[in-house]
Amino acid sequence: MQAVVWIEPGRVEVRDIREPDLSDPHGAIVRVTATSICGSDLHLYHATIPVMPGTVLGHEAVGVVEAVGARVERVRVGERVLLPAVIGCGFCRSCRQAYPVDCETLPMKVLGVSPLLPGTQAELVAVPYADFNLWVLPPEVADVDALPLTDVFPTGLFAAENARIAPGDTVVVIGCGPVGLCAIQCAQLYGAALVIAVDRVPERLDWAKRLGAQAIPADDDVAPRVRNLTQGRGADAVIEAVGSEKTLHLALDLLRTGGRLSMVGVLVKEDVRLPLGTAFLKDVTLRVGLVNVPRYLPALFSLLHKHRLRAGAMITHVLSLADAARAYAMFDRKEQGCIKLCLRP
Ligand code: NAD
Ligand code: ZN
Ligand code: ZN
Repeated sequence: MQAVVWIEPGRVEVRDIREPDLSDPHGAIVRVTATSICGSDLHLYHATIPVMPGTVLGHEAVGVVEAVGARVERVRVGERVLLPAVIGCGFCRSCRQAYPVDCETLPMKVLGVSPLLPGTQAELVAVPYADFNLWVLPPEVADVDALPLTDVFPTGLFAAENARIAPGDTVVVIGCGPVGLCAIQCAQLYGAALVIAVDRVPERLDWAKRLGAQAIPADDDVAPRVRNLTQGRGADAVIEAVGSEKTLHLALDLLRTGGRLSMVGVLVKEDVRLPLGTAFLKDVTLRVGLVNVPRYLPALFSLLHKHRLRAGAMITHVLSLADAARAYAMFDRKEQGCIKLCLRP
């Protein structure tokens, strides 16, 4: 089968590899109908997160169940399913509370980051603990609307929840990639009166504006502009959706005293400098972490059903899986107005 394989920094290739087999009685094989590239895949693409050559990438997918193990009870062959970006066993205490990030059984919680758990950017993907990790999709939910629910929308909702937004708040979202654009929508759902969006890419700022945010280009003097918009106080909450030290520092700078900093951008180096003095004097609450996708899916499905989310609209490009190398380069460089890409095997 065809799969997207990491070769070296800045290079992926579509290769013919062996199909997964169903040795796991709790597992399933899913035929992928749509998969996407995430900002998190870019960390692997550039090897800023360590990755082994030969790793099949991808953790966001929608597909059809091809085969199930002997002990799978809830999902059936032929059903259309969504695969959350973070997986768990479903049996342990953490998973039973919908916190698979802390799963006590599975050592790895994300597909497509190691050769041991091949990813979703392939024709077929093996899914452990299928009863917990596969969500059957209602027929009216299109693949392109379901794809953002695998990761970026749950992360946007997690970011807004961690920002403890109260009605009337001013919230800054730094980074207007798919995660940031979802965070803008979720901040509004929590009642933010003003969302200020910061990014370097004009097309992405245009998207933020269309969602109702006020846009500030990242190379402008962002801090004085935010102070101006908040009567000199600073923002009640800042969501960092980039994953860089520079934007972490900017986030702290933009907050008012007693503000909340919600960081979902992935910055996993050990030597990140956090200006603790500033955080201390500002009485800042900092929340950071990996999203527990199942916690947010029921709410997101309800919101999607009631047309309260702009999900599929974020998919600006649909390409064949065979074009993955070009797709990675386009998404990495934010070319051609690309927001979120869908790859079709
Ligand atoms: P993306 O690369 O499409 O978006 C990042 C955006 O940040 C881009 O629009 C880019 O122009 C902007 N940016 C870069 N430098 C900037 C700067 N100095 N100032 C302002 N904007 C800047 O990626 P994405 O898919 O939106 O993901 C965003 C981040 O969220 C990534 O770090 C990803 O790994 C992370 N993520 C975290 C979780 C989680 O569970 N915490 C889940 C999914 C993704
Ligand atoms: Zn993702
Ligand atoms: Zn578990």
